[in-house]
Amino acid sequence: MQLSNYENLRSRLIAHSITCEEVVRFYLDRIDDYLEDNIYITVFSEKALERARSLDRKLKEGGRLGKLFGMPMAIKDNIAIKGERLTCASKILYNYECVFDATSVIRLEEEDAIFLGKTNMDEFAMGSSNENSAYGHIPNPFDKKRVPGGSSGGSAAAVANGLAMVALGSDTGGSVRQPAGFCDIVGLKPTYGRISRYGLVAFASSFDQIGVLARNCDDAALVLEVIAGKDRRDATSSFHVVPEYSSEMATLSVEGLKIGVPKEYFPESLNADVSRRVKGKLFELRDRGAQLVDITLPDSAYAIAAYYILVTAEASSNLARFDGARYGYRSENAGDLAAMYVNSRTEGFGREVKRRIMLGTYVLSAGYYDTYYKKAQQVRRVFQERYQEALEKVDVIAGPTSPFPPFGIGDKTGNPLEMYLADVFTVPASIVGMPAISVPLGFDSLNLPVGMHLICNFFEEGKLLGIAKRIQVPL
Ligand code: GLN
Repeated sequence: MQLSNYENLRSRLIAHSITCEEVVRFYLDRIDDYLEDNIYITVFSEKALERARSLDRKLKEGGRLGKLFGMPMAIKDNIAIKGERLTCASKILYNYECVFDATSVIRLEEEDAIFLGKTNMDEFAMGSSNENSAYGHIPNPFDKKRVPGGSSGGSAAAVANGLAMVALGSDTGGSVRQPAGFCDIVGLKPTYGRISRYGLVAFASSFDQIGVLARNCDDAALVLEVIAGKDRRDATSSFHVVPEYSSEMATLSVEGLKIGVPKEYFPESLNADVSRRVKGKLFELRDRGAQLVDITLPDSAYAIAAYYILVTAEASSNLARFDGARYGYRSENAGDLAAMYVNSRTEGFGREVKRRIMLGTYVLSAGYYDTYYKKAQQVRRVFQERYQEALEKVDVIAGPTSPFPPFGIGDKTGNPLEMYLADVFTVPASIVGMPAISVPLGFDSLNLPVGMHLICNFFEEGKLLGIAKRIQVPL
């Protein structure tokens, strides 16, 4: 069964040449074949089939067909689906069952999407390789000895291996874009505030955004259109009108496009293969009529430093609620109240999460607040100003998604700082809150995927997706 794009699936469903039930069975069988890859944490076998049958009935009875009618989707396991387990790939939430739906989940359901299950991730979305999960690591779809990226590694591997057509992930510093780049698919992080965060477990609230992982830009655009928009349950969600992304994309032309190429995104240390692929694509775009404009931006290394101060600060506060009393795991060893808190957290959280809580409480402590937290906020402001200035001169900023191709499982687990550098090109867009996307460029000399990273101005998702589409599929 060839199901690589939604438009094609939809027309076959409507023509009755295939049923939703058959589609779901096909995906469930594939999920079964990949069980040992730890891609899903929970699979909704029965529920997905039931849902498929009810959609089949609706089609037969001539009901309104939603925009995503029959689209088989996977949801990262830090997004709430009522009545289902939500683990954040952490032991501390191993038995937590959601009592409400995330807003994006409600919106997808209203448009007739089908959920196949919840995907594996780095614990509480902290990581770049999916190795920080209490549910095992995931092999890269193109080389089993390498990582799929993270923290939305399960969502990326699900889409790349054909275990879901589209998946939701979350992106705080690159967790949708980096795994998309490592798995040869499209990964979109919208403008901060474009999608409601209600029902997304908070890691760093001023950075977190739900994002979309898909095989192509049209599918990503369609899903974005459904989930974007104001939500009264999230005060940071934007009133900005949600356009019809497909028509914005259709009018985009490479001819005359001004592509900003920051030298900071092509440092000496950049992997040679990655550099060659990305530059090759830029030259191709120039040949197709785009204009390449050299620009300078603040060094991304400062973005990484500021990012890890700000997100750990926010995480240390957000994760205070997991105390053994309210949610999930409680230590057996809970003699008195203090022991219950301490032991539940000590036993329930993994190493990386604990490292970040400690870093976060440190940078927020009275004696260091001005030195670290306040400074990092100032750096964030400088980045915001400089990126906005740059985007007054160019339409889009381009560079590689990751400084290196997918790395080996275990290669960076012993050195957190090296792991943090995996996000050096994705973090700036998160710091400034602008929309960004990773587009697949094909494979390097070792047959590993290379992704190109694009950033547009606030709320220019239509343009961003349009450019990405022209890169993926030249007209
Ligand atoms: N890898 C980055 C981190 O560990 C980004 C994570 C994310 O975007 N959720 O913080």
